[in-house]
Amino acid sequence: MNTFEQYESEVRGYCRNFPAVFASAKGSWMVDTDNRRYLDFFSGAGVLSYGHNPEPMKQALIGYLLRDGITHTLDMYSVAKQKFIERFNEVILAPRGLQYKFQFPGPTGTNAVEAALKLARKVTGRSQVVGFTNAFHGMTLGSLSVTGNGFKRAGAGIPLGNASSMPFDGYLGQDVDTLDYFESMLVDNGSGLEVPAAVIVETVQAEGGVVVANADWLRRLRKITEDHGIVLIVDDIQVGCGRTGQFFSFEESGIVPDIITLSKALSGYGIPMALVLIRPSLDQWVPGEHNGTFRGHCPGFVTATVALDYWADGKLEIEVLKKGRQIQARLREMLETHGIEGRIRGRGMIQGVEFTDPLLAEQVSKACFARGLIIETAGIDGTVLKLLPALTISVEDLVHGLSIIEDSLVAVLSDTAQRA
Ligand code: PLP
Repeated sequence: MNTFEQYESEVRGYCRNFPAVFASAKGSWMVDTDNRRYLDFFSGAGVLSYGHNPEPMKQALIGYLLRDGITHTLDMYSVAKQKFIERFNEVILAPRGLQYKFQFPGPTGTNAVEAALKLARKVTGRSQVVGFTNAFHGMTLGSLSVTGNGFKRAGAGIPLGNASSMPFDGYLGQDVDTLDYFESMLVDNGSGLEVPAAVIVETVQAEGGVVVANADWLRRLRKITEDHGIVLIVDDIQVGCGRTGQFFSFEESGIVPDIITLSKALSGYGIPMALVLIRPSLDQWVPGEHNGTFRGHCPGFVTATVALDYWADGKLEIEVLKKGRQIQARLREMLETHGIEGRIRGRGMIQGVEFTDPLLAEQVSKACFARGLIIETAGIDGTVLKLLPALTISVEDLVHGLSIIEDSLVAVLSDTAQRA
């Protein structure tokens, strides 16, 4: 541990909550250097949707490396890229009647968001963009400008301009349609809000505390953006790739975004990879106008192509919805049994509990770690316990993890009662 404390920057974060040195992992289990096993309900913040080192992807990757398949090409053509594009069209886009151009930006989520915002500005000739309260889109300056978290924004060290924040669904209470406000601002010449180039939205605000946008709200947002010629960007980096059940999180609402950003679980293996899907008429980039050294990394294409097999027959989608219901029911039962106040939110296999006691989520996450479960908190002040197990987790492991949460809750509550 000393090596990290001595040499690694103070900026390190997750390792402070989960202080172990991890050595290996398989499926939903991680193993540290003391041979302690941890059940993973965090999945690399939504990266490891198929668990750690999933066998079909691992075998494809090993095979590719052993035959000296090309690793790095910048954005030159490769067989690996071709196969990925063709398979993504075949399995994901064509069955949904969708047509998008593929842009492979640098390999992280924030790279995709930056590209999307730049393109929307270029296409519309406008400079302003709109994001939502409690949104999270990444740590580079454009992404930060549409991210709500004040602590992260302050890290920019400069004013974050050309972006406005609008209230997300539910921000003003369940009885207020926050789009009334946005629409009024747009149509009123005295509002001070310029018509933006783009609106960027998460259908489920994951880092923001598992806040779910209503399907009607999303449909209305699509209509407003269409009426005003605003590019609608759905940031599906954390809750896309099947996390909510269907491959794209917006499918339930029936909307068709102009631009979609994907990353995290896209490669299926934890290999960094990002994709911007662009409505063909918006693809007004000129060659090389937006580039990056690690655009479209071939090992990522190889594993991502295999990962698409999970979405070819609809079975995983059904499983995700079923497990999601199971998680919700079990969490509800826990709160009821132990008389704990809180709200359970989520879709598919991203679920969160916002406890009325703002300290409880952090305490439970810590108690879970002590019992061998890795689970993080979300929300601006970490008040939401966020469940993000692998989509492929076995029912047995899922049940086991949920019972660790219950044991941890009981332990934290009894500690608190003893101290009172
Ligand atoms: N967008 C969303 C919705 C995210 O959840 C994240 C990361 O958590 C990002 C963008 C940024 O991705 P990255 O950390 O890979 O830059």
